Amino acid sequence: MADIYINYGTHMQDMTYALMEAADIAAELRPDMRVCIKPNLVVARPADGGATTHPEIVEGIIRYLRDNGVKNIIIAEGSWVGDSTKRAWKTCGYSALRDKYNVELLDTKDDSVEKRKSQGIELTLCRSILNADYLINVPVLKGHCQTDMTCCLKSLKGCIPDSEKRRFHTMGLHKPIAALAAVLKPNLHIVDSICGDLSFEEGGNPIESNRILLGRDPVLLDSYGAQLMGYHPDEIDHLFHAKAYGAGQYADDNTDISELNADRRPKTVLQRSSQAKRLGQFVNEDGACSACYAALIFALNKAGNMGLRNRINIGQGFKGKTCAGIGVGNCTAGCDAHVAGCPPKAVEIVDFLRSL
Ligand code: SF4
Repeated sequence: MADIYINYGTHMQDMTYALMEAADIAAELRPDMRVCIKPNLVVARPADGGATTHPEIVEGIIRYLRDNGVKNIIIAEGSWVGDSTKRAWKTCGYSALRDKYNVELLDTKDDSVEKRKSQGIELTLCRSILNADYLINVPVLKGHCQTDMTCCLKSLKGCIPDSEKRRFHTMGLHKPIAALAAVLKPNLHIVDSICGDLSFEEGGNPIESNRILLGRDPVLLDSYGAQLMGYHPDEIDHLFHAKAYGAGQYADDNTDISELNADRRPKTVLQRSSQAKRLGQFVNEDGACSACYAALIFALNKAGNMGLRNRINIGQGFKGKTCAGIGVGNCTAGCDAHVAGCPPKAVEIVDFLRSL
């Protein structure tokens, strides 16, 4: 059993199904269970904008659950204060899922609540989430204007009522998010890292990474995700606190990562967002895998271009060649200097750029 499973590609339903098979999730399920799937529908915007969970991933989960005898499936989420979850159900493709698979949609804004104490903070949580026999968190790995990144931990804010979301902001977000993670522990996390936004939770600058991750430890997944976005885990305050509160461990060199299809990563396509295009002017790309290219874009966003005179080489077109300048990824080992990895993490690229 690996700590993190990763599947690369664009066929999200099948990718998700394969991840659950690889991790043998069926061994944890019983037909009489009430299984709750919690996507991130922070705003009523389609997933290709980089803010919300792709419904195809949730469909892959439903198919897997059904094939393993689970009938009682509920999708629960509450959009952020100021947006309507019911509008999000429709806009983001979840009403169609309900109709196709006869699953229940539950707006946590309408749910009754229960109190739980965690790390000295009294938290108010939605009862339907607490009552689930098996909870699957399906966040988006993306940037955030206040917390730098959001993934498994912060997405659990959809499991509290709007009044509590407001209170979290008055408490500075990081500690209450970590306290929530210490008391609300989903059984499984499936991370949508298909095209999470570069820096903003509302989307608008999606960066194609074409990757889905699965794991059980939210701190491990988020600390790994932070590195994919250019951050050392301790730079993200709520991760630091969550680890201190015993909600999980950071990913490190001993983390067992199982990539299902490392040899079949999709190539990058034209990155559509304006920020990606702006940062792309510092890149000399030739046949780069999308996860590799995304790492470089996240790194450039974090570090800036550091006054580089030449563009950074990346892609399989550089494999086996010698080339002047610097490169990113094992394919560019023939450059004057390069960041090793296949793909390297954005944080490694940031550290490399800063060391020059
Ligand atoms: S280093 Fe690996 S991930 Fe990056 S472009 Fe080459 S094959 Fe793809």
